[in-house]
Amino acid sequence: MIEKLNIIPIEEWFEGLSQPLLIAGPCSAESEEQVMATARGIAKIGKVKILRVGIWKPRSRPGTFEGAGDEALKWLRKVKEETGLLIAVEVATPLHVEKAVAAGIDILWVGARTTANPFSVEQIAQALNGVDIPVMVKNPVNPDLELWIGSLERLNRAGIKKLAAIHRGFYPYEKTRLRNIPKWEIAIDLKSKFPNLPILCDPSHIAGQAFLVPEIAQKALNLSLDGLMIEVHCNPSVALSDAKQQITPAQLETMLNELVFRSPSSVNNEFVDKLEQFRNKIDSIDQQMIDLLAQRMRIVEEIGEYKKKNNVSVFQIYRWENILKSRVDYGLRLDLNADYIKNLLQLVHNESIRKQADILNRKDNPSTK
Ligand code: PEP
Ligand code: MN
Repeated sequence: MIEKLNIIPIEEWFEGLSQPLLIAGPCSAESEEQVMATARGIAKIGKVKILRVGIWKPRSRPGTFEGAGDEALKWLRKVKEETGLLIAVEVATPLHVEKAVAAGIDILWVGARTTANPFSVEQIAQALNGVDIPVMVKNPVNPDLELWIGSLERLNRAGIKKLAAIHRGFYPYEKTRLRNIPKWEIAIDLKSKFPNLPILCDPSHIAGQAFLVPEIAQKALNLSLDGLMIEVHCNPSVALSDAKQQITPAQLETMLNELVFRSPSSVNNEFVDKLEQFRNKIDSIDQQMIDLLAQRMRIVEEIGEYKKKNNVSVFQIYRWENILKSRVDYGLRLDLNADYIKNLLQLVHNESIRKQADILNRKDNPSTK
């Protein structure tokens, strides 16, 4: 059961906004100087109209920097007066909403950890009842499209029509090249369900490392997403949160000059054509398959080292028979042909054997033993 979302397009949020919507700013407000310097650097580029700033930070572990809090609202007012940038902050509680609205913040966003909790989103929605302010909703940390849609619906029901979604990737337990897995197919599904809902991408939280941000931003633009939210810090190496993924205002300028902005906003609502959407989903799934194969191979290597240490041979027939049978049975339950799974497994297994044989045959330098 999907409701239709009642959406006011980005161009009508504030004068001078257009698609793709560009938002940039520090992960966290740390000091007045840091916020001012970053905002000045961003404003100077002339292409970004909205400054993002985290002032109440949801941190995974206690004892880490939790943002400058209420005090930062004063700095943001100064930023706005001096640079003319619109200001966006993250809200996670009704009190945050109340304070941000009272301080004249222009745009709010709901963070990934909050979107994952319907109680929190409902409370935020209630606090926003009767307030005319744009709200952007990040995807939940877990890849659950219903939960993401549910949050958008809760806000929309509370009267928020200036609504957008932000795709920031999904948490992987295993180490992968990216900090959060993009799973673009989920953003594509959201766009197909709500063609008039603007969907931005946050390449910084997907990338996790500054040098990967442009690549992810370009991918989002290629998929005709409606904008970018990028983490920018005047001096990333000393940032108190997300230091590795923030870029400088100068790097932002270079990136914005080099990105290829493909489709004009007028065709964004039609998104890319259907075949292209299917292909993009396949691309995303293939990439995840390869990531998983790489993860599997790393474990195979660890097993190889372990076998070597304990003088065990590489190949154990009972294990292989068990792998084959359990995977084929599982594939059959998912309507996959038995030979298809068998052949695929054989390939994967051969490569694992080859890898472990390499490890066993390797002559270790005695000093590294
Ligand atoms: C952030 O934008 O700094 C942030 C906390 O992001 P997310 O909610 O996507 O983790
Ligand atoms: Mn951050």
